[in-house]
Amino acid sequence: MLQSWLPIPPDSDFSIHNLPFGIFSDERPARAGLAIGDWVVDLAAAYALNMFPHYPEAGSAFRKPVLNELVALGRGFSDYVRNTVQTALCDSHSDLKQFSNHLLIPQKKVQMHMPLKVGNYTDFYSSEEHAFSVGQLFRPENPLFPNWKHLPVAYHGRASSIVVSGTPVPRPWGQIGQTSGIPAFKPTNALDYELELAFVIGKDSAIGRPVSIAEAEDYIFGMVLFNDWSARDIQRWEYQPLGPFTSKNFASGISPWVVTWEALQHFRVPAPPQEPEPLPYLVHQPRQNFDLCLSVSVKPHDGQEVLVCNNNASGIYWTIAQQIAHHTVTGCNLQTGDLLATGTISGKEISQKGCLLEATLNGTQPITLHNGVGRRFLEDHDEVIMHGFGQKGDIRVGFGELRGKVLPAVR
Ligand code: CA
Repeated sequence: MLQSWLPIPPDSDFSIHNLPFGIFSDERPARAGLAIGDWVVDLAAAYALNMFPHYPEAGSAFRKPVLNELVALGRGFSDYVRNTVQTALCDSHSDLKQFSNHLLIPQKKVQMHMPLKVGNYTDFYSSEEHAFSVGQLFRPENPLFPNWKHLPVAYHGRASSIVVSGTPVPRPWGQIGQTSGIPAFKPTNALDYELELAFVIGKDSAIGRPVSIAEAEDYIFGMVLFNDWSARDIQRWEYQPLGPFTSKNFASGISPWVVTWEALQHFRVPAPPQEPEPLPYLVHQPRQNFDLCLSVSVKPHDGQEVLVCNNNASGIYWTIAQQIAHHTVTGCNLQTGDLLATGTISGKEISQKGCLLEATLNGTQPITLHNGVGRRFLEDHDEVIMHGFGQKGDIRVGFGELRGKVLPAVR
């Protein structure tokens, strides 16, 4: 067990084993940091004290207001930075300790920013429980489409509206289908969250060159929590035949700290078996997911925060390696900073459903919050709070939180 001279709460998501990267600001401009316990390590300041002598180019990357340049230096670099800081946190004679007043900043005194300039975002549909129960709501005779067990279904999402935790989301207006056949134009009455994980792509691939499944994991820098805000009534009217569009492009939230690929390795578990076996370009062994506990809470205006979903990412049907191999099989290139999201992660039980569409059976069975308050979909001023962490023995690695509050529609 690694022991730091810095007091780190035992239940902290940001243990000495985690050390995720993020972008923060205080009275000085936004720059790169590592989270440890209740603190941020100011990497640019640590660089100025010559803590990272093997990478002279790191100074520029640490001073940028997004992590893309840092990520592009490769996992060898990010591992080196984390290992250097980890060692310094365990050495009571380190410069990090000696100059801690200067290098460690309380998290409560900083503002977190979008950690990445996201060029491209793709949303998969990789949880069988989610795809099956959503399919069952609308096509009870045929919940999974015939392609679902042969390829990881996805659509290309909108990168410009990905926002960091804490950014409020105004209730969107849109076209909503009516029984008359003439759509209404009004604020959505079926605003929903989707509990997802998103992988950050850590290096470019070449256009025209599919990434093989064997090398797919080399392209991952790390992971964040992801909330794919969705307007179900708008979605229902617009989604055929090309998939969701304005019902999902208004906002997606991410957690501010990017948990690195290396920190996730403690939590690898076998992925569920696949039947039928997919085509050879999607076959790999061992097929692994991550044992990560995920949760969603909803806090109404002036009300108590209530847990509405508790599940785990270990059961996802299509692995991240399969998602990458399929994404690039036609020659589509990946770019550093792209996000690939898993799609809503759900389990079988109602308490494990990663969106209200499933938990309320499309709004027909309200869930209950504190004091008997019901919810079919989200109301104005509801705040959605997502958490995620892995725990193996004494090793805990978490994402912190992903918050977003619904604001009333404006026009
Ligand atoms: Ca989604």
